[in-house]
Amino acid sequence: MKRLLVTAALAAATLLPSTASAFCRTWSCDPRRETCPVDPDNPACLLGGDPAKHKRLFWPQKCIGFSLNDAASPQLGTRPFDTFQKVADKAFLQWQEVDCGGGKKPTIAFADLGGAECDLHQYNSSQANANLLVFKNGKWPYQGADNQLALTTLTFNVDSGEIYDADIEINGTQKISVGDADVQNDLASILTHEAGHFLGLGHSSDGEATMFREYTPKSISMRDLADDDKKGVCSIYPPDRTNLPACNPIPRHGLGTKCELPVTDDKGSCAVSATCGEGEDESCAMSPIGRSTAPWFVVALGATLAVLRRRRA
Ligand SMILES: [Zn+2]
Repeated sequence: MKRLLVTAALAAATLLPSTASAFCRTWSCDPRRETCPVDPDNPACLLGGDPAKHKRLFWPQKCIGFSLNDAASPQLGTRPFDTFQKVADKAFLQWQEVDCGGGKKPTIAFADLGGAECDLHQYNSSQANANLLVFKNGKWPYQGADNQLALTTLTFNVDSGEIYDADIEINGTQKISVGDADVQNDLASILTHEAGHFLGLGHSSDGEATMFREYTPKSISMRDLADDDKKGVCSIYPPDRTNLPACNPIPRHGLGTKCELPVTDDKGSCAVSATCGEGEDESCAMSPIGRSTAPWFVVALGATLAVLRRRRA
């Protein structure tokens, strides 16, 4: 009887239209300040937005550069920065190499701009920037240090949804591993997932997707993109996207790798400009900057293992 039920469920699954997508876009709606309505494209998305009021986030250009914090993590072996760079390059490359149909790729291209001294996520509206990948090794500065693996922060134009800056912070207080031996929390899986947020994707309801909201510790399956992830990136950056500016991977206002000092800062710390004010550029003065953070939770390990064991028995 049990087997029959499983067969019926599988049959029903294969009958679903193949066009059904589970991927979600990130909207310019901040759930901390307002109620974000259900995504009209996919009611299964955790966060949505009102198309009359909010925008779906996207990079307006094709070429996007990213920088990697020099310190990387002591968990990455004898040459931590090289390892960090190798894993990150591969994670980003996967997204740009997706086949959107007929061999055509999405209209995004990443450039690894090398190391950065800066270890803070920030966006300077009047000074040089870096789209930074950084490990937080000593302390995870957010709630949920025990179950968050990484956090991607997007800074965007709230009127247009254009992404200005993206920073990925990795929770270095968690056990992170690279390679196929003794897998803990797999860096390649984490960075491939966060690169999806960097592109403007939210969490997918498809359990097979790299953009699924939960990572199963010791798993490496999120290293590879699923069909749903591919549909997502091709939907935001279709091969036929037009009016793209000339390829230039340098961040807005130039590449800044040292946490540029703000004029008014007397402590020598890094500047964070999340709202419009003095020194903002014109487009920002017209359009306040919003922020979107996408925490990634690790949960349900026990439940997943239990289910697998029961199925095998
Ligand atoms: Zn996530």
